[in-house]
Amino acid sequence: MLEKILKKTIHNQLESLSGWDEQKVKKFQQNLLSWYYDQRRRLPWREKPSLYGTVVSEFMLQQTRVSTVLPYFERWMKEFPDFKVLAGADESDVLKLWEGLGYYSRARNLHKLAKQIVELESIPQTRAEWLEFPGVGPYASAAISSIAFEEPEAVVDGNVVRIFARLFKDQREYKGTAEATKKMATLTQSFLNLDNPGDHNQALMELGATVCLPKKPLCLICPVSECCLARLSEPEAYPTIKRRVKRQVIVSRVFSLSNRKLLLYRHPEDAPRLAGLYELPKLESLVIRGRPRLLFSRARAISNEKIKEMIYNTDIADNDLPSGHSWVNVCNIDEVPMSGPHRAWVMELISKQD
Ligand code: SF4
Repeated sequence: MLEKILKKTIHNQLESLSGWDEQKVKKFQQNLLSWYYDQRRRLPWREKPSLYGTVVSEFMLQQTRVSTVLPYFERWMKEFPDFKVLAGADESDVLKLWEGLGYYSRARNLHKLAKQIVELESIPQTRAEWLEFPGVGPYASAAISSIAFEEPEAVVDGNVVRIFARLFKDQREYKGTAEATKKMATLTQSFLNLDNPGDHNQALMELGATVCLPKKPLCLICPVSECCLARLSEPEAYPTIKRRVKRQVIVSRVFSLSNRKLLLYRHPEDAPRLAGLYELPKLESLVIRGRPRLLFSRARAISNEKIKEMIYNTDIADNDLPSGHSWVNVCNIDEVPMSGPHRAWVMELISKQD
């Protein structure tokens, strides 16, 4: 039966399916789980599990490393300890606490989700129900429903794709991680430990994050190495995912300080990505006086773009500022929500003026 599923799922493109029967899958699950119980990192959302903690951690961990998330999670749980407190919070306070984590739509969606949850008579449990909430996609819905409610839903993300591609020496070439996760979904579901789906999923995530690393995987200490076809050849060669070429973008910004007031731009409430956040304004949106002087440039990458940020100093014709622009007293800079890089640039430049 299992072999049939595997064959159907992967269209015979994997090197070997032979030998995988119910017993071998059970052994795989047991080895994975005992390793997880013994070796897992003691993370706050795992040690004191709760639905709210699981949801918050899943939102924060999207595109972000555990080590970065840890201090944010601790602060968040102190400030907003449950759905009710979060639902009643001001959006600017929510964004302020998220400041530096990036991808701010996660904070806004988490805030909206809390507002929706507190209005419900009962807490949803199934993956399909969780998928209805803002910001909850296929991965987060499987993670939340399996970890908090033991729903039999397998998670698939880049880490899980990597593990399974190596276990089976998957020769397919994927257009991107999204395609790979989609194509691996049936296979990973057939390996799910139905007695303990939440811990099984967390064990796979932990294995991908700490042992089956993209570069130099630690096969010698891997709990599932005996089932892994790639371990003796070239594990790093799997999976094969075409990398998109990053687009080069240059953005010119203005740092203008006048009478201890800094000119900032606030993204409107309906902006798709950075709604409500302040940043250094773009040069092209302002009427400037004189010749701008380059203060510094910084490189950064956001999703598919390589961005070169050029920060200029110049005088502004401030009698007719375009909408969203305003002078903010430097004494109040700490209060306004700003993305991590902008905060760092602003603080560096202000300190140079003092
Ligand atoms: S044996 Fe190596 S390549 Fe295979 S799953 Fe374990 S860490 Fe990954």
